[in-house]
Amino acid sequence: MYLTKSFIPILKNNPSEAKIKSHQLMLRVGMIKQSSAGIYSWLPLGFKVMKKIEKIVREEQNRIGVQEILMPTIQSSEIWKESGRYEDYGEEMLRIKDRQGREMLYGPTNEELVTDIFRTSVKSYKSLPQLLYHIQWKFRDEVRPRFGIMRCREFYMKDAYSFDISDEEALFSYNKFFLSYLRTFRRLSLTAIPMAADTGPIGGNLSHEFIILADTGESKIFTDKDIFKVSSDNTKVEKKSLDELRKEYEKFYAVTDEKFNKKEFENQVPEENRLITKGIEVGHIFYFGDKYSKPMGASVDLPGGKKDFVKMGSYGVGVSRLVGAIIEAKYDNQNEVMKWPISVAPFDISLIPMNNKNDNSALEKANNINNEFIKNDIEAIIDDTDENFSSKIKKMNLIGAPFQIIIGKKTEGDLLEFKEIGLETKRIKLEEVIKIIKKEKAKN
Ligand code: ATP
Ligand code: MG
Repeated sequence: MYLTKSFIPILKNNPSEAKIKSHQLMLRVGMIKQSSAGIYSWLPLGFKVMKKIEKIVREEQNRIGVQEILMPTIQSSEIWKESGRYEDYGEEMLRIKDRQGREMLYGPTNEELVTDIFRTSVKSYKSLPQLLYHIQWKFRDEVRPRFGIMRCREFYMKDAYSFDISDEEALFSYNKFFLSYLRTFRRLSLTAIPMAADTGPIGGNLSHEFIILADTGESKIFTDKDIFKVSSDNTKVEKKSLDELRKEYEKFYAVTDEKFNKKEFENQVPEENRLITKGIEVGHIFYFGDKYSKPMGASVDLPGGKKDFVKMGSYGVGVSRLVGAIIEAKYDNQNEVMKWPISVAPFDISLIPMNNKNDNSALEKANNINNEFIKNDIEAIIDDTDENFSSKIKKMNLIGAPFQIIIGKKTEGDLLEFKEIGLETKRIKLEEVIKIIKKEKAKN
């Protein structure tokens, strides 16, 4: 893709309205455009990154056996009246009336709708567990939308729901999601720590928020530093190992604001290990038993003829917020350098040809290299503008493809000036470049 033909409206300077680095960068390189307070259009660069995040989230849901559905954004108020949340949800819910005067709403979450889908179709314990998810826009009329897409009103969320026959089975489902979230965030090159959390308006009694550390985060956290040493590698989806995995984390004190208790913190965490800091919530899982199934009458036949309400959990990932969260974690705003993890990078590599007047050979060389990249499934952006070297580098450092090739005077024979952002420039052959990039991509 040529930079001149791409829709990447780059700004010369940081926009003054943006307070945190993800918001600054997203506006600066035209990833998003605000359309009204807390509501954004996603432009090609931002959309590409979000779609790559979505793909990883989807693959990891499928991997633990969750089935994908798609529920609408607009819901009827009837089911929310059944659960009792129509009143409780308050002003965060955007309420609308259709032409018949029916009360509708733009879904802030989907516990009611999915319970309604479940109860009309599933009647027997034999069909359990059922795990369902969708990836859909949500609307919450937040009091203070801010920080760009980090806390906005319309956002893209993966939400999953589990239906089980007993508490024990439901906890197995919960633990599966716990593992799946660790895997998902790792593939996004993020260290997300599960923290015991309050259940808020979703309700229930067991809940974890997945938090990545960032000074600009809105969640205050209290934890034992050693929790960062827990490794979730190679955990199989077996009841026992999953239980152990969660216990590995729960050995350490790690809570958000609402659950904080000074005494417990000081008793459980040695002084030198106490960490009080801020983070960004990128995922949230809940177990709430029959909170929705009971008022909404979602029950199944048990062995022996009795009936019982199903035990449910729900599991959210902020897909659009993750775009900002990755920037918060990876962007060096002092030097204005972004390096996207290759798993979600908008381009794998940037090609920076330095043409002389009346001589197109550098651009031609870039085109030839790009043809080889295309054959190898490597996506490049070519800076085909007439700008000078430093301005080209500056732009490419903001766009953040993790690798760069500079084609200029120093390019002789078949040795290329190749650089991984943050590392030294190497002079290597094209085959070598392709090998390096393919290897990086395969890690995911
Ligand atoms: P928060 O405490 O940040 O408001 P929440 O507890 O209300 O989050 P959930 O209902 O658990 O969030 O939603 C699941 C995920 O959706 C969150 O972990 C977060 O990543 C994302 N999310 C929630 N609200 C917003 C928002 N206003 N803008 C962007 N993403 C959001
Ligand atoms: Mg909220």
